[in-house]
Amino acid sequence: MGFSIIKGDITHQSVDAIVNAANTRLLGGSGVDGAIHAAAGPQLLEECRTLGGCETGKAKITDGYLLPARHVIHTPGPIWHGGRKGESLLLAGSYRNSLELAATWSCLTVAFPSISTGAYGYPVDKAALVAVSTILDFLPTHPEMNITMVCWTDEDKAAYEKAYKKVLKDR
Ligand code: ADP
Repeated sequence: MGFSIIKGDITHQSVDAIVNAANTRLLGGSGVDGAIHAAAGPQLLEECRTLGGCETGKAKITDGYLLPARHVIHTPGPIWHGGRKGESLLLAGSYRNSLELAATWSCLTVAFPSISTGAYGYPVDKAALVAVSTILDFLPTHPEMNITMVCWTDEDKAAYEKAYKKVLKDR
């Protein structure tokens, strides 16, 4: 199936859409959000200002401007509060709504960062299981799409590979 896990920088991916682990204001921030805005140039922030923010777990799309990616899909993931505040459903929503928006915009190649596992504190092993199972649930209905998890560190890549093996085994 069209799913892969790599180590890399999401701002370097030449795909139809990269996903941004944004915040609800959609006005830029730290981590991958800052890196995407820096690489895309100031026009990205200008377009984001017109969007009126975005709810946690939902997604909005913009142009990619100076990025090699055609579009940026912005999704605020949940802040980790211990796991009993609906975090997993919200995180699954971020992946699913981003993928549905990508499909609506005819994006065939989509790259995700590890949403919520940086400043938002979601444990990466838990987040990886949610991410991988949501992506694998989505792909059979969109077999033309290729989805890549772009991990920033070796540890993150290992966590997503482990989750992928577990999800495949449990199906
Ligand atoms: P969040 O607020 O959703 O937790 P962060 O940006 O703090 O978002 O972190 C999300 C993940 O993105 C972390 O694993 C972080 O290491 C990773 N990251 C940071 N910069 C990049 C980049 N240029 N490409 C891919 N991943 C990145």
